[in-house]
Amino acid sequence: MLSVSRLLNGSLSEGDVLRYGRSSQRGPAHLLHFSADKKPVVAWNITGQCNLKCMHCYASATSKPFAGELTTAECYKVLDDLAAYKVPSVLFSGGEPLMRPELFEFADYARQLGLRTVLSTNGTLIDSAMALRIREAGFTYAGISLDGTEPTHDRIRGKRGAFAASLEAIRRLREAGVRTGLRFTVHAKNLQDLPAVFDLVEEEEIPRICVYHLGYAGRGGGISSFDLTAEETRAAVDYIFQRCDDFGRRGLDHEVLTVGNHTDNAYLYLAVEKRDPARAGELRQLLEWNGGNQSGIAIASINPRGTVHADQFSWDYSLGNVRERPFGEIWADTAHPRMAILKDRTAHLPGRCRACRFVAMCNGNLRARAEFATGDFLGMDPSCYLTDAEIRPSRAV
Ligand code: SF4
Repeated sequence: MLSVSRLLNGSLSEGDVLRYGRSSQRGPAHLLHFSADKKPVVAWNITGQCNLKCMHCYASATSKPFAGELTTAECYKVLDDLAAYKVPSVLFSGGEPLMRPELFEFADYARQLGLRTVLSTNGTLIDSAMALRIREAGFTYAGISLDGTEPTHDRIRGKRGAFAASLEAIRRLREAGVRTGLRFTVHAKNLQDLPAVFDLVEEEEIPRICVYHLGYAGRGGGISSFDLTAEETRAAVDYIFQRCDDFGRRGLDHEVLTVGNHTDNAYLYLAVEKRDPARAGELRQLLEWNGGNQSGIAIASINPRGTVHADQFSWDYSLGNVRERPFGEIWADTAHPRMAILKDRTAHLPGRCRACRFVAMCNGNLRARAEFATGDFLGMDPSCYLTDAEIRPSRAV
């Protein structure tokens, strides 16, 4: 996750990066959305069941639960494991997590264990009573998916009325006092709605918008041909920067993040280098501390059957299963060849990335997308939109 709004125009205080050095437990994790010691944020898909059928769903969720989902007792054990490994937060996802009957029991237990809990939902099951329940369960944040204007969203989500229900959920959660943000996965079928979604964020006073690039996984892999071209991606990210600038100029406090394409880190750096060269050094330091793609490092995924993956787009490759080993053991096991590469991957990346002056702040982008597109886990992620001239190390920085 890249906090564009905080990093683009320097809402960091002077010397933040030096003051909060990497070794410090007080690292600028709040700006980078990781814990200071990089224990992983765990996205846990507690069910594969969903009441919608979105065209880009990485989990390929269906109207029925996945066969072999973790039992209630196994879920409690997972939470014990996560707390023992001291992960900073658990993102309850699905499918639609509100369709898992024990969700609130799990959230309560997680909170008792000291885990920060976040909810990722399509919002369509949230009435006023449910919004209050979510607040009482102690979720610190709820992310609601909205993929465009009403007709676009309903088409993408496969259900008429989905947009109205999700927007109503955002309003109800705000009334209930739950910090709520909007998630927009951008591709060719909804790119035209990006401005309207930013307008909605402003009109509805939504505190955060996360713009996701398309991950090629599950049904998202099936629509990889709808991914944006390099030119379209640049134009979309330029537009996001413009809206951040505009929010900033007018004193509007909307946090804007991009997710799932770590080329954005480098592109943001290039923008700052141009507009405010004096700040470029500090920003580079911060982005390199962030380290770009964190699959297998500071991002983890557990699927409904307990399989551990490097991230939520990497479900085709298992790192182990929490039914057989505690999560912490799986995550720390660098004898596992793929885990070893993920944890220290620069030397294994394709030549273009190894030669790139931004590799330390991008980390070769999303390996799952590279693998889907090239058949090679260590191939080139096609979503890199920087030119050869931009990544050339000889360019002075
Ligand atoms: S060349 Fe590789 S490391 Fe450099 S920005 Fe592109 S994907 Fe990232």
